[in-house]
Amino acid sequence: MTQQHDQNQTLFERARHVIPGGVNSPVRAFKAVGGTPRFIKRAQGAYFWDANDQKYIDYIGSWGPMILGHGHPAVVEAVQKAVLDGFSFGAPTEREVELAEAILARVPSMDMVRLVSSGTEAAMSAIRLARGATGRNKLIKFEGCYHGHADALLVKAGSGLATFGNPTSAGVPPEVVQHTLVLEYNHVAQLEEAFALHGKDIACLMIEPIAGNMNFVRASVPFMKRCRELCTEHGTLLVFDEVMTGFRVALGGAQSVYARALPGFEPDMTVLGKVIGGGMPLAAFGAKRAVMEHLAPLGAVYQAGTLSGNPVATACGLATLQQISQPGFYDDLSRKTSQLVAGLQAAADAQGLPFCGDSEGGMFGFFLMSELPQNYPKVMTTNGARFNQLFHGLLDRGVYIAPALYEAGFVSAAHSDADIEQTIVAATEVFRLLGSA
Ligand SMILES: *Cc1c(COP(=O)(O)O)cnc(C)c1O
Repeated sequence: MTQQHDQNQTLFERARHVIPGGVNSPVRAFKAVGGTPRFIKRAQGAYFWDANDQKYIDYIGSWGPMILGHGHPAVVEAVQKAVLDGFSFGAPTEREVELAEAILARVPSMDMVRLVSSGTEAAMSAIRLARGATGRNKLIKFEGCYHGHADALLVKAGSGLATFGNPTSAGVPPEVVQHTLVLEYNHVAQLEEAFALHGKDIACLMIEPIAGNMNFVRASVPFMKRCRELCTEHGTLLVFDEVMTGFRVALGGAQSVYARALPGFEPDMTVLGKVIGGGMPLAAFGAKRAVMEHLAPLGAVYQAGTLSGNPVATACGLATLQQISQPGFYDDLSRKTSQLVAGLQAAADAQGLPFCGDSEGGMFGFFLMSELPQNYPKVMTTNGARFNQLFHGLLDRGVYIAPALYEAGFVSAAHSDADIEQTIVAATEVFRLLGSA
């Protein structure tokens, strides 16, 4: 593609004049991997097409929501019908009740949910509610977990457990993160120490149970068991941020995956997003009735939204939930996802390249190292230059994976066995180049 005919480049230049960095969310700018971001024109099923009409197999699925693939006919129909009835009313609708019922029927740890418009908003509101319900200020988060960009969560670990975090973004005053304790993921001893020191003051422990914002890292079962025990012991609310994993790794979310290993396991609160909106701006947070009744208008914790429970978004979410609830849906999705990871593994092995991967349901991750990392510092030891070569090699061959090594990948119901096979063929070629380099 010559420079003057590259429509992506032309659009990127236009975009950079009017939008900071040319994008409305930083990772889209390809800053980590270099090169020109692809501007997407349209999408269908497992594919999208860029401004040059180049076709790609899509493994980001809008960063998770598109579990059915793009343009699923039942979802499109539901959205079209909803649009004709009106875009937004600022008054309650039956569809919000239906969606709340549909979510609660699938995630039984919650008695009530509140619908909002983004994962950031849901996580931020969940923390306010946890603080309001417990009357405590402090919270625990883990390094490498992302819970949206609320001020209190843009934080990295301080110098020790007695000290709290430091902001990771300009514009966040240190005082705003002074109640946030940042711990290492999967580190039981540190967790115990933090509770021993601060337990009675900790409102909530927020965790991505399968972390998808440091590629793909599972909380180990013993670690999760300790999180649950310590939260119960200290009256701290265990908050599962399932914005990514909810309805993505299983119909009951990651919490249902942990409940297989730990019978009766439940978090106290759950944050949802991504899949529940099926690609529309929709997210939610929920808990047992006693906690949720602290929320306005019943209780003293304020939370609101002009577009919350939007009628078009809820129609899209409901139609998506209906489709993913069909028998065998996750079996098929898991099978394809494992097949992809196994195929990539075999391709890398054949070239003698260090590689390991993991998946659950329709979510996967892989690392250019020989052993799965258990925490953020380990994830960051990945060879970034080699990842970038892999990324561009795949992109050139029509396979679009996340443009950063610390992001998970997503397979949808629309991906066919042939798409998976084609991806493995492309990866085999790229690994061969990397192996001989
Ligand atoms: C995507 C994500 C968020 C933020 O959701 P937005 O809709 O982007 O604000 C929060 N938590 C997790 C685990 C996520 O993956």
